[in-house]
Amino acid sequence: MRIAMNSGFLRWRFLFRFSSRVLCLVVFSLCSITAAAQTARRPKALKKESVDLLVTGGTVVTMNARFRVFDDGAVAIRGDKIVAVGPSNEVAARYTAARRILAGGKLVLPGLINTHGHAPMVLLRGIANDLTLQDWLEKYIFPAEARNVTEEFVIWGTRLAALEMIRGGTTTYVDMYYFEDAIARETKAAGMRGILGQTIIDFPVPDAKTPADAFARTEEFLKRWKGDPLIRPAVAPHSIYTESKETLQSAAHLARRHKAPLLIHVAETMRELDDSLAKHGMTPVAYLDSLGLLGPDMLAAHCVWVNDADIALLVKNQVGCAHNPSSNMLLASGVAPVPAMLKAGLRLGLGTDGAAGSNNDLELMEEMDLAAKLQKVSRMDPQALEARQSLAMATIGGARALHMESEIGSLEVGKKADLIVLSLNAPHAVPMYDLYAQIVYSLKSSDVQTVVIGGKVVMHDRQVLTLNESEILARAREYRIQVKHSLTAPTK
Ligand SMILES: [Zn+2]
Repeated sequence: MRIAMNSGFLRWRFLFRFSSRVLCLVVFSLCSITAAAQTARRPKALKKESVDLLVTGGTVVTMNARFRVFDDGAVAIRGDKIVAVGPSNEVAARYTAARRILAGGKLVLPGLINTHGHAPMVLLRGIANDLTLQDWLEKYIFPAEARNVTEEFVIWGTRLAALEMIRGGTTTYVDMYYFEDAIARETKAAGMRGILGQTIIDFPVPDAKTPADAFARTEEFLKRWKGDPLIRPAVAPHSIYTESKETLQSAAHLARRHKAPLLIHVAETMRELDDSLAKHGMTPVAYLDSLGLLGPDMLAAHCVWVNDADIALLVKNQVGCAHNPSSNMLLASGVAPVPAMLKAGLRLGLGTDGAAGSNNDLELMEEMDLAAKLQKVSRMDPQALEARQSLAMATIGGARALHMESEIGSLEVGKKADLIVLSLNAPHAVPMYDLYAQIVYSLKSSDVQTVVIGGKVVMHDRQVLTLNESEILARAREYRIQVKHSLTAPTK
């Protein structure tokens, strides 16, 4: 009986243990299957894409069509292009980079675009001041250039100008001068973007004895730099008052044959307008139109003395214009009708012009400030040109004037990675209530801390990495002695 009881108990115990194990196995299997199914359904942890440079934590002022601003924003850069712009946490979650620029408490802006200048003239900075354009040009600048401008002069002048421009946040500049091939080499070495025009002029100049020489040199220059990622070679007939009708038309023909920009001074002074009316019976803009020169490839500097019909002609032909408030004020050339130009949809950028008595520096931060104030005071209307419009002219407006708005001028995906980081750590930079007013009316070139051009860091913490600053400043001081002596020495 005991045995019978024991054997019955053992059977039950065996059955119980066996069924418990089976149950455990089933439960375990079910759990495993469910877990596997969940794992399959769950998205894999995002593998971060690698980029070359991440700028994070700053207030990113995109200057895109909606004027989007990211308070804690980031820009991701691969190669020479922007691959992402947005809130820092989103961009940082998606991208990893070998190099980072921490921009917390700072502003991140598109690089500034200087649409008009003559870079090497910085070596003649302040040589003749407080004069009219004609006196300044004919009595001082043309003679000083004839006696001093060589390829070597142009090389050191361009280095000095590039140093000043980079330190002031300029990433792209437009130039019209002599020995432009040397300017292109120095601009590329400095890491800047340049739209560089070889000058064509009807009288002997430092790099060409005749217009024929100038044309040959220009064509060679166009061929040599075609397709360069930083340099766009251009043709630069100086103006309607220094060129014959034939020279102007040949210059345009040459530019169009090579699909190159055509850079020219237009309607800068009242005298140019009066002379054009007397000689051609037309305004300078109408005269250029009659010659077939107006077109999307033209960048016209100044356009101060233009009427509504001229503005309509410029808009219709998609001509870009460069407004140079400092130069127009210093030479007392006049006040360009900027509000009317913008209202008409003109492609309008900002420029510094030369630095030798028509401005005396290459600071676009200052041009933005003056552009707005010049319109306000001359029209007795504080709303004539507002801060944001002024910043737009120095960035996306300049890009539009150059027909390069799909490449530069704003911080947008697919565009060239040209950006600047501005510090807000100075007495004149705090407190900040209005972003655009702060940038245009308070901040200065010295607040530009870091400059990136085509994805390359060209200036970091105010240290220009592509140029030897102390050597350039020393050479500039040496040139002063040479230039001064040349002006007092008797002419041969
Ligand atoms: Zn000029």
